[in-house]
Amino acid sequence: MKVLLIGSGGREHALAWKLAQSKKLEQLYIAPGNPGTAACGRNVDIGVNQIDKLVDFAEETGVSLAVIGPEDPLAAGVVDAFESAGIKAFGPCAKAAQLEADKAFAKQIMRSNAIPTAEGRTFDNFKDAKAYIASRDEAVVIKAAGLAKGKGVFVCDDPADGILAAEKIMCDRIFGDAGLTVVVEDKLLGEEASILAFVDGRNIYVMETSQDHKPIGDGDTGPNTGGMGAYSPAPVVTEELMDQIVKEILVPTVDGMNRSGAPYKGVLYAGLMITQGGPRVLEFNVRFGDPETQPIFMRLKSDLLEVMLAVCDGRLDQVALEWQPRPAVCVVMASGGYPGDYEKGKRITGLKEAGQLEDVMVFQAGTAEEDGQIVTAGGRVLGVTALGESIADAQAKAYQAVDKIDFEQAYCRRDIADKAIR
Ligand code: AMP
Repeated sequence: MKVLLIGSGGREHALAWKLAQSKKLEQLYIAPGNPGTAACGRNVDIGVNQIDKLVDFAEETGVSLAVIGPEDPLAAGVVDAFESAGIKAFGPCAKAAQLEADKAFAKQIMRSNAIPTAEGRTFDNFKDAKAYIASRDEAVVIKAAGLAKGKGVFVCDDPADGILAAEKIMCDRIFGDAGLTVVVEDKLLGEEASILAFVDGRNIYVMETSQDHKPIGDGDTGPNTGGMGAYSPAPVVTEELMDQIVKEILVPTVDGMNRSGAPYKGVLYAGLMITQGGPRVLEFNVRFGDPETQPIFMRLKSDLLEVMLAVCDGRLDQVALEWQPRPAVCVVMASGGYPGDYEKGKRITGLKEAGQLEDVMVFQAGTAEEDGQIVTAGGRVLGVTALGESIADAQAKAYQAVDKIDFEQAYCRRDIADKAIR
């Protein structure tokens, strides 16, 4: 079978690596891919948002499954376009993708299905948002409702900072139209966990748990990023808690989406805060997380392509997934300055040596090939991922691999997975 994978980040390198192991795969194309995915299939020079070109390419080459990595094309209707052309697509249709692309819609689904989340209100004008935030005397979280590359959220311990954040989002439009509407939420306390599940419209298959590290600095300090590292499993999610998450969050979400006329298919990602009062939804994503996918896929033993086809065909109840019991840790190496400005084009050394270590995979994200050399081409450059006998062992192996790799102004957090070890 021919498969077209759409995207170019670390998540897509992990997806490509896993899909390439499938016995069912005849040819993998990645649009546009990166130098890492080129080792798993053939990169095709089409951007993730060039929906017509992607569909044309799939039709011309006889692709029978499209797998979509990032959220933007999902929100823009790439799945609808493939399906109209008679090609299976792994991911939600545009209407269902609103669960991520419109946080106001997500909040509405949660409210009407009694799904536990932070108290919050939605505003589409700054004056009302300001008056509401000013009336609060506790910490607030201000979120641009639209897609903002994972950076549209401000956690403000002082409501006065919340007003400034709302002003930046709604008046200065730092995220463009994604900030036409904001959601103002109470700040929740607890430990975060990411729950990813395959959903075929009806059946739910929960994957192994993981935890991301959003802030740029050690000890969760500094501004939020796309994610600086992750580990799997996340010990904070006990079996009992997982049962509660499935019953109180995943099942009502899938049911609620069906009732709202947007049946959900693909991967459903619930970003949760495990509070003293139980799990609460911080956000939904409609695709695999980046970097959570990297450690999760290091642990997946089953054939990913078979699972994705089962999702598309609505027969997820007929497949069984097998997981590696050993934990995995992924450390993201970023360009110095990220998530602010950073330079590109720095030559990366040590990739081969790091990749040769046992149980280590170096997933490429913001990289490019120039004159036969791999150079930096983005903020998050690599996801150095290792399996270990314990989380501490996986962490040690991941950092051992990180220390073999170098590029000018390389930066990584040094405490990824410390929380799990503690
Ligand atoms: P989101 O994109 O909505 O998941 O938000 C990004 C990050 O902001 C989350 O991973 C949390 O660290 C933080 N966050 C979002 N909402 C809240 C909340 N209500 N309380 C505390 N932290 C939050």
